[in-house]
Amino acid sequence: MECGYCGGRFFRHVTSKDGYAILKCRDCALVQADVPMDVEAFYNREDYFSRTSTGETFGTDFLECRTITDKIPLNERTFDLFNAFRAGVGEPGFRDKSVLEIGPGPNGGTMKYLTALSVVEGLEISKRAVDHLGGLGFTMYCGSIGEVRVDKQYDMILAYELVEHLRDPKKAFAAIYGLLKPGGMFMLSTGNVNSLRAHFFGKRWSYFLPPQHLFYFGGATITRHLETAGFKKKDIQVLKYSLWSKKQAIQLGFPNLRSSLFLRLVSNLTNGMTVYATK
Ligand SMILES: [Zn+2]
Repeated sequence: MECGYCGGRFFRHVTSKDGYAILKCRDCALVQADVPMDVEAFYNREDYFSRTSTGETFGTDFLECRTITDKIPLNERTFDLFNAFRAGVGEPGFRDKSVLEIGPGPNGGTMKYLTALSVVEGLEISKRAVDHLGGLGFTMYCGSIGEVRVDKQYDMILAYELVEHLRDPKKAFAAIYGLLKPGGMFMLSTGNVNSLRAHFFGKRWSYFLPPQHLFYFGGATITRHLETAGFKKKDIQVLKYSLWSKKQAIQLGFPNLRSSLFLRLVSNLTNGMTVYATK
C-alpha cells in the first residue's frame, strides 16, 4: 500500500477493525485504512442506502438529521451549522449563490433546503441517488469528483461527511479547487482523528469505519491537503466541532452556538471537525 497523500510506504499500525488495518503514514502522518476494494461498486450496491442503523454502517442517522422536517424550526435544523459558526456563510450567505453539494446521498436534504435560497446542484457516485434527486428536478452529476466532467464553477462547494469516503482525496481536493470561482468557499465536515474521543475509544471509535471510511484526518492533515490543492493557509479555517456537536448543543439547550460556552467545551472533544477554505 502507498500513502494516499505522499506516496510513502512506511506506516505505523494504529489499529485493526473489521479485518482492515488502519495505518498512519510515517512521512506525512495521514491515517488511512488499507482497503483494496472498488469503492464505487460498494456505493452502488442495491442495499447500501437502504440500511438503517446508527454509527455501525455509513451514517444513516446523519442523512436522517438532514431531512427537512417542518417540526424543526429553520434555524435549528442540524445541518445549517453555517448559521451558527460563521458570519456571512449562513442563510444570507447562501442566497442567490451557485452551490455544488458533493455526496448528498439519496436523501438530498441539504439540497432541498438550499434550493429555496440558491441554485444548487449535486455530484454523487451512487446512480440510485442521482436518479432520485434528478427526478426531483436537480441537476446531478454521476461519478467521482475529479473524474466526472463539470464545465462550470461555483460560489460554494459542500461536502458533509464525504472526504473520509474518497478513494483519492488529494485528487478530489484539487478538482474542488478548480470548480470554485475565485473567492468561492469549500465547506466540509469530517472526523477528527486527533479528537479526545478518538483517543479515548481507540479502535472502538465510531469513525473508524472501514471499508466505508478510508481516511481519518486531523487539523494538520486536512489543512495540508487543502494547501496542496491550492488554498492558502490563511484562508483555511478548521473548527473542531462536528454537526453532531450542534445537534447535541441544541438538545442540551444551547441553540445559539456562536455565543455558546458549550462549543468551546466540546472543541476537539467530539468526533468531528468542520472546515472552511476560501479560494
Ligand atoms: Zn504519507
